[in-house]
Amino acid sequence: MTAAKILVLPGDGIGTEVMAPAVAVMQAAAAAVDCPLDIDEGLVGGVAIDATGSPLPEATLAAAQAADAVLLGGVGGPKWDHLPMSERPEKGLLGLRQALGLFANLRPALLFGPLAEASSLKAELVADLDILIIRELTGGIYFGEPRGVEQRDNERVGFNTLVYAEHEIQRIAKVGFELAQKRGGRLCSVDKANVLEVSALWREVVSAMHVDYPDVELSHMYVDNAAMQLVRAPKQFDVIVTGNMFGDILSDVAAMLTGSLGMLPSASLSASGVGMYEPVHGTAPDIAGQNKANPLATILSVAMMFRYSLDQPLAAERIEQAVAKVLAEGYRTGDIANADDADHMIGTREMGDRVLEQLG
Ligand code: NAD
Repeated sequence: MTAAKILVLPGDGIGTEVMAPAVAVMQAAAAAVDCPLDIDEGLVGGVAIDATGSPLPEATLAAAQAADAVLLGGVGGPKWDHLPMSERPEKGLLGLRQALGLFANLRPALLFGPLAEASSLKAELVADLDILIIRELTGGIYFGEPRGVEQRDNERVGFNTLVYAEHEIQRIAKVGFELAQKRGGRLCSVDKANVLEVSALWREVVSAMHVDYPDVELSHMYVDNAAMQLVRAPKQFDVIVTGNMFGDILSDVAAMLTGSLGMLPSASLSASGVGMYEPVHGTAPDIAGQNKANPLATILSVAMMFRYSLDQPLAAERIEQAVAKVLAEGYRTGDIANADDADHMIGTREMGDRVLEQLG
């Protein structure tokens, strides 16, 4: 079996702190399922600017393009905030997304039972929530042309273009159908087909593809209703597939259902299956360097990597079960702790060690 090539990019701030336990968990889970890994480490973001002058050095880009999966911590921080937009650490992240052709963004909203109290919704509505939002990441209104602000009849007019070609809809819908097959078998496509022509095309294309996935139950929902349903009865969903802007908004709504930024993993996939895996949170300068960051979002991103890029669902399940057990035992980092958890409060490294122990 050839070793899967993994590029690890810790980045800045808590990125480096959460990456250390995540890599240890990755190695332990790989060993448990006999999946050889070839792990390389690179620079991205602020640390890359300091070392090379560029947020995405050539060597990092080349290593990412040669990898089966990239695991990223986070980029950015006050040290680089004075730089012009085009030279900021975030450019490293955007450059990677573009160069790797990462068109599908996967954001699970998973709520471990013991953390249900942290949600802004009633615990019974969200306990054991497990939904997956798939957002188209490289098209739609964020990239459509023409765009701009121009003078028309004595006033300025701003405009953007919401555009999707059939092939863009087909490739994201394919991800949706295939992941629904691997999960609960239900796919909800979210659009605004009652108002927008591009959404009517989206709905038509997705519906036409359904014949190839008879085992998936397909439904359609308008985005305004989807937003309402996500906070009314989120467990009705399994997989949601939607365009760039609708997905941007709905995935943040879903994130808040789970209560903590420190628990949320994400994946971005290319057509060839290469993926970039990263926690949803940033570099948290307010707690960086204090062993306070919750590493579970990054550890759960490693689980997604095993599932979606390495085709090792067993390794993914082991990691997710280990995290569930650690939480069930009451261990908490500060961000997910409440007043009763004082004697089970632990730091970044200790949380990583608990997960490793559970992995055996
Ligand atoms: P943030 O996600 O870094 O932090 C928001 C709040 O959540 C902070 O109070 C922080 O302490 C807390 N938090 C975040 N992750 C946590 C974790 N794992 N454990 C415990 N608490 C956690 O967002 P921000 O403050 O808006 O941004 C800080 C920096 O991160 C900025 O430079 C921003 O550009 C960058 N950023 C990077 C990414 C990325 O690399 N993908 C994403 C968002 C923000």
